[in-house]
Amino acid sequence: MPAAQESSLVAGRSGAATSHTSWRAPKSSSSQQQTLLSVTALTKSYSKAQVTIPVLQGVDLMVNRGEIAAIVGQSGSGKSTLLHLLGTLDEPDSGMIYFDGQRIDNLLPRERDGLRNRSIGMIFQFYHLLPELTMLENVLSPLMIQESAWAYWRNRRRHTERALELLDMMGLSHRIKHRPNELSGGEMQRAAIARSLIAQPRVLLADEPTGNLDQQTGGEILEILRILNERENLTIVMVTHNHAIARQADRVVQLVEGKVQEIADSRAA
Ligand code: ADP
Ligand code: MG
Repeated sequence: MPAAQESSLVAGRSGAATSHTSWRAPKSSSSQQQTLLSVTALTKSYSKAQVTIPVLQGVDLMVNRGEIAAIVGQSGSGKSTLLHLLGTLDEPDSGMIYFDGQRIDNLLPRERDGLRNRSIGMIFQFYHLLPELTMLENVLSPLMIQESAWAYWRNRRRHTERALELLDMMGLSHRIKHRPNELSGGEMQRAAIARSLIAQPRVLLADEPTGNLDQQTGGEILEILRILNERENLTIVMVTHNHAIARQADRVVQLVEGKVQEIADSRAA
């Protein structure tokens, strides 16, 4: 797809928010119903100074393909812990996680890294961009890690084109050579979203993605996530302590005392 066909998802940026060309299969109602993530009886505790803190105490959760699921809960309720387990950044004490029919909670470290690089995008409250890299390099960094030096060198033109398309979609074409400390919070989160999409993940895990942004900028980030979900059929699992944000999801679950409570109507969140 030529970069020229892409345009920004961000209102008022280089293109109309309504006319970008999709980089994924269109959303279909049949694929929407399939379970993408399935979590059963998940437990996780942390030990510190001979004290064990039980955090997750039997979490059950299903996320369908094409859905935006929000996980709410008080600070310290285990939201980030759960998201890290879904993203294979950590291992549970017991229980199972299936992703697209494959068990992923007990993979070998190399298999986990491979799965995460190929299929799972992540964004965080504090963006986690690498300060010494430009925006373009930050967006490319997952591919640099994922591929051998030789493969990356061979594919570099295609990768750079794709990174530029994503930065354009995020309204950041004018910021590709800037470093993170030269950008606003909203711009950094948009760059982090572009980075999370570079390997065409099947799910985006977002940990308090608007937690460090003012209300308007946070709203813009949510709008981008909503457009990615609607147009690209991107499944999103978003953690937030903010119920107003959670209400914009298709489904909301709440973490209470280490377990998940379903909130059937997200408007009641
Ligand atoms: P939330 O994201 O909902 O605010 P977290 O998942 O970050 O909650 O943390 C849940 C609980 O686990 C908290 O009490 C926190 O202090 C504890 N915790 C999280 N990570 C660790 C860790 N690496 N070591 C020890 N305790 C931790
Ligand atoms: Mg957290």
